[in-house]
Amino acid sequence: MVEVYKFGGSSLKNAEGIRNLRQIVADVDQCLVLVVSALGKTTNALEEVVQASFEPTNTWRQKLDSIQEFHEIIASDLLPEPDVFLDTILRPSFDALARKLEDPPAGSFDFVYDQVVSMGEIWSTLLIHHYLVATGLDFRFIDIREYLITDSNYREGRVAWDQSGFLIRKGFACTGKEKYITQGFIAGAENGYATTLGREGSDYTAAILAYILNAQQVTIWKDVPGVMNADPEDYPHPKKLVEIPYQEAIELAFFGAKVIHPKTIKPLYNKKIPLWVKSYKDASGEGTLIHEMEQAPKLIPVFVRKRNQVLISILPRDLSFVIDEGLGRIFNQIDTHKVKVNLIQNSAVSISLCVDRFDERVERLISELSMDFKVLHNTNVELITIRHYTDESIREMISGKTILIEQKTRSTVNYVIKTG
Ligand code: ASP
Ligand code: MG
Repeated sequence: MVEVYKFGGSSLKNAEGIRNLRQIVADVDQCLVLVVSALGKTTNALEEVVQASFEPTNTWRQKLDSIQEFHEIIASDLLPEPDVFLDTILRPSFDALARKLEDPPAGSFDFVYDQVVSMGEIWSTLLIHHYLVATGLDFRFIDIREYLITDSNYREGRVAWDQSGFLIRKGFACTGKEKYITQGFIAGAENGYATTLGREGSDYTAAILAYILNAQQVTIWKDVPGVMNADPEDYPHPKKLVEIPYQEAIELAFFGAKVIHPKTIKPLYNKKIPLWVKSYKDASGEGTLIHEMEQAPKLIPVFVRKRNQVLISILPRDLSFVIDEGLGRIFNQIDTHKVKVNLIQNSAVSISLCVDRFDERVERLISELSMDFKVLHNTNVELITIRHYTDESIREMISGKTILIEQKTRSTVNYVIKTG
């Protein structure tokens, strides 16, 4: 029997969070695979280091120093004897990265990104592993870059399932009550370099490992009681969903519910492995169960808000039909530039795309499309989705807002809303 646990950055933002993790894993009485992401907001901070390393100034150094300091503070708070860990493990690792960054970046942005950003998960697992062992728990450290193999599609590595399956079954040989700790989100390409699976990808790692190891169940430990029907930031009285089918979880994740990474559900669904979302603050609480349900439950309205969207409108330079002539080209370029499209709307002569935040990929897409089309874009928008909407829930969510696009199906309504 194998159990997979995943802890995300927000549950690991200080020593207390890691002590909490220890309490939860200490109770497990079967083979456990513990998947951990980077501590707190380390991944965001490392993204800034990467960005800065491509600029002529040396600001990356200061940014990297504060990430190091953050880790050192947690280590000092947590470990009975922090010096050994700091001197022989953590500092040498930061030094090695700093030495690499001193030279001008070699390789594409996405390649450098994965080499640098993947270190967040390495540091968190080194530290947590050290702590668990120092406090008497027998955990084995597995560097997932040598087991979970992807292609070289940096920042969105695609899993080589057969090869990974073979290696993972060997590496995580659960014959009894072994305990393993490994990294979420990161993987390795066949050429030996690190890759990543896309932001917030640790959930996906947990699902991949569960699939390959035929786990009995997966638990994602969060700082919320389970999957809620809204983000408490957007909505005053969110309610917990007790039980949802896989299909519903995929829809919610796709439209931006922050609880689960969208790719997580499919591997679990394929083997009907149940997924629990629980609060690490209330480990014995019920949480939310995502699993196969014979009859879809009647669900209350669920609100999902995706901020920082970009609305791109693509029009022909003359009055020719974009739909007839341009669709293939447009989709090809979306694919080439790896831009995530959340909503598409077309008319005879134009097509609008609502995509995730304005970054260098979106910029490249817009400039490429502009060679063939007239392209407009608006960065002051967000996407609001209501699953299982009612008239009242719509009123509650969008009254007073400027709606740029509305799309309705029987179960879902989407609004692209102006924010500024
Ligand atoms: N640390 C990574 C991120 O923040 C992966 C994860 O948290 O799932 O994107
Ligand atoms: Mg994270």
